[in-house]
Amino acid sequence: MGFFQRIGNALARFMYGRNGADQLGLTMIWTAILLDIANWIVRNQTVDAIIGAAALILTIWAIFRMFSRNLYKRREENTRFLNKLWYPVKRSFANAKIRSRDKEHKYFTCSNCHTMCRVPKGKGNIVITCPKCGTEIHGKS
Ligand SMILES: [Zn+2]
Repeated sequence: MGFFQRIGNALARFMYGRNGADQLGLTMIWTAILLDIANWIVRNQTVDAIIGAAALILTIWAIFRMFSRNLYKRREENTRFLNKLWYPVKRSFANAKIRSRDKEHKYFTCSNCHTMCRVPKGKGNIVITCPKCGTEIHGKS
């Protein structure tokens, strides 16, 4: 067995039964990296200390989650994160992409339930009734 294969096996054995990297963990690591980059750009001592501490806590927490054996709790955290942040952000990115491609419609978001309403462009001042909750949206298309 080669050297790297042996290291790979040892690592696999070590990670067995542990949480590993999930979406929440990866997001935490990326946030910590972005905070570090922000710190590097800002160069203010007070801000530096606060952001640095936040990045450090995020990193330690992410590492703790990665090696945690409490899979049930970690999966629950990750699911909560996916539902509250990951999927909504992903959806809004997808929506923005669709909206930027669509030149024939204008999009309004309901102020009450955040449903996206699509109307044809160029109709002037209009009142839209939200199909989900019935709230009226006033806008110009
Ligand atoms: Zn609505």
